[in-house]
Amino acid sequence: MTSVSSAQSETPSHSSGPDHAAATLTINLDALMANYKWLSKKFTGRHVGAAVKANAYGTGQPFAAPALFKAGCRIYFVAVLGEGIELREILGPEPEIYVLAGVNKSEISEFRAHNLIPVLNHLGQIEDWSGAATSDNALWSAALHVDTGMARLGLPDDEFQTLLAEHNRLSSVDLKLVMTHLASGDEPDNPNNLIQRNSFQEIAARFPDAEASLANGAGILLGPEYHFDVARVGLALYGGNPFGSGPNPMSEVVHLKAKILQVRKIDSPQGVGYGATHRATGPARIATIPVGYADGYPRSLGNRGFAVIDGIRIPVVGRVSMDLITVDVTDVPEHLSIPGCEVNLLGGDVPSDELAPAADTVDYELFTRLGRRFKRTYIGGA
Ligand SMILES: *Cc1c(COP(=O)(O)O)cnc(C)c1O
Repeated sequence: MTSVSSAQSETPSHSSGPDHAAATLTINLDALMANYKWLSKKFTGRHVGAAVKANAYGTGQPFAAPALFKAGCRIYFVAVLGEGIELREILGPEPEIYVLAGVNKSEISEFRAHNLIPVLNHLGQIEDWSGAATSDNALWSAALHVDTGMARLGLPDDEFQTLLAEHNRLSSVDLKLVMTHLASGDEPDNPNNLIQRNSFQEIAARFPDAEASLANGAGILLGPEYHFDVARVGLALYGGNPFGSGPNPMSEVVHLKAKILQVRKIDSPQGVGYGATHRATGPARIATIPVGYADGYPRSLGNRGFAVIDGIRIPVVGRVSMDLITVDVTDVPEHLSIPGCEVNLLGGDVPSDELAPAADTVDYELFTRLGRRFKRTYIGGA
């Protein structure tokens, strides 16, 4: 499976995926580590934890998590139990692994077997975990998530008040972390950030023995008053723009390139792709690239996306198909736009924070949907 590619200019540390794949996804682990260290320097709390859910935001948990460990990360956040079990196998016994979805009764033994820490999100989860710990005559570690304005995960106010009134509900729990999540951290001027931050400070003060965790990647950049003890950073590590737009301070980690499969010369008017939603009038040249929505290239980029050849922006024309897109290469010199020539699809001069809005989405979604058919090349990480 693992082979070394010679096609890259930088020396890859690992490659995987079919050798004949016409699209290459390069993951720069050195940039990932640099992003972790940069954020750690900015952070005034105790430790920057890494969100490695969804296969480390599409970059590949088996490669990304050890690189982050080498960069100094000892606290990890995953979404669900299965991700936690995989991560424990990858990283061994040392790091703390928190499971954001928390725990249900049937999962308790797996949590214990793999030394995973549930984030308890509601009174039912608290009862299950604390109850099982009581039966075991032991103190079990957990985090507590209190909602301060998302109405998604975490104790709502009434459940939080119940918990404060009935402290024994946590009697068998070693509460390591109290956390909440910012709804609009990516909008630095949104007044709700400060409101959530202030509510959280009061909540955290009720648990002086637990560490407090508020900030995601954007939260670190909002400033020290948002830092508390432990951060939970995702997108920024993988090179996404923490504030969604404007200058992106992070180093690029994800880069997707593909090779032109076929070029069509258009002399007389001709519809392009399914539904002929683009009409080429000619003279024009349309290049077909073997990446489609099954590879995570959003279908919404039909007639809206762009790619780059040799610094020249080329529009995606017509619909995105399952396995193919079509781009108008009329403006590109012919010797750079024949079958086999390389096209930049994401990263570099196709910044994720520019492509994502064109698809009506966010770079989180672009990254996490990156497909399995690419040849994946990992750079650095040593
Ligand atoms: C995913 C997630 C994070 C990481 O957020 P980023 O915006 O990617 O930095 C932090 N906290 C919680 C609860 C999350 O679900």
